[in-house]
Amino acid sequence: MKQSLVNLLPPATVAAIWAFWAFAPAAWVEGGWAIMAVGLGTLVLVQALELVFERHEGWRINRRELATDVFYVVFGYGVIGFLTETLVNGPLSQLKEALGIATPWLADSPFMVQVLVVMFTFEFGQYWMHRAMHNWHPLWLTHAPHHHITQLNALKGFIGNPIELFLISLGVIALLDVDLNALFAAITASGAIATYAHANVRANPPIWFGFFFTTIRHHSLHHTALSYEDTRCNYGNSVIFWDRLFGTFKDGESEIVGQDDRRRLSIKEQWLFPLRPWLEKRKAARG
Ligand SMILES: [Zn+2]
Ligand SMILES: [Zn+2]
Repeated sequence: MKQSLVNLLPPATVAAIWAFWAFAPAAWVEGGWAIMAVGLGTLVLVQALELVFERHEGWRINRRELATDVFYVVFGYGVIGFLTETLVNGPLSQLKEALGIATPWLADSPFMVQVLVVMFTFEFGQYWMHRAMHNWHPLWLTHAPHHHITQLNALKGFIGNPIELFLISLGVIALLDVDLNALFAAITASGAIATYAHANVRANPPIWFGFFFTTIRHHSLHHTALSYEDTRCNYGNSVIFWDRLFGTFKDGESEIVGQDDRRRLSIKEQWLFPLRPWLEKRKAARG
């Protein structure tokens, strides 16, 4: 395939996802399986694209990486998804009812307006949460495991300490009145963009796409192994526009990714990471 066509893969995937939800029958949407199918289908597609259009040999997927990545996808969809629904989105919906919060203007807007409002609103929260994680040490300790990954692949966006994964899933979207198709279109399109932004795929989307949305070029720079200071840019998970607006955008890309000595962490190390200062202090005290 010609490189110019490969470059169009991320925008084409997003357009296909939006079109799917624009025309998906209500019965599919309410059943709940369609969002699972689109979400997981995108992951499988992009992971498969890595095998055909590899970006860097050093990022090539192997069994150990894939097993860890799949573990985190299941954990994300299962445990984190359940926790977010029960602890955050459920109570927020009740609060919305109790306080009579309503956004009829949004529900009456055209489909694509609803989709974009949801994407940009959710990502606005993501942006500040992510930026806070790179600015406040206790939060950094939860986010650092995501930066200790030593190669980028389609499913790597799911990797991180469980506390971070929960924090980054928080949002106020449950307070909005929005068409269910538009909501799912926003969630799955953001997911697709974030998946491409972590994937070992040789696609460099056109400038207009990269102006608003995160691409592997800018997200790989966020993962650079150069120094901790150098990772403090391009915070947008799927919407890089907020970085441009708030002055944290930086152009460039990085092939060498990781943190500190670039040692790959095990799942156990990723989960215990926030306790590191305490564990080290205890070790030192014991001599
Ligand atoms: Zn980060
Ligand atoms: Zn990342």
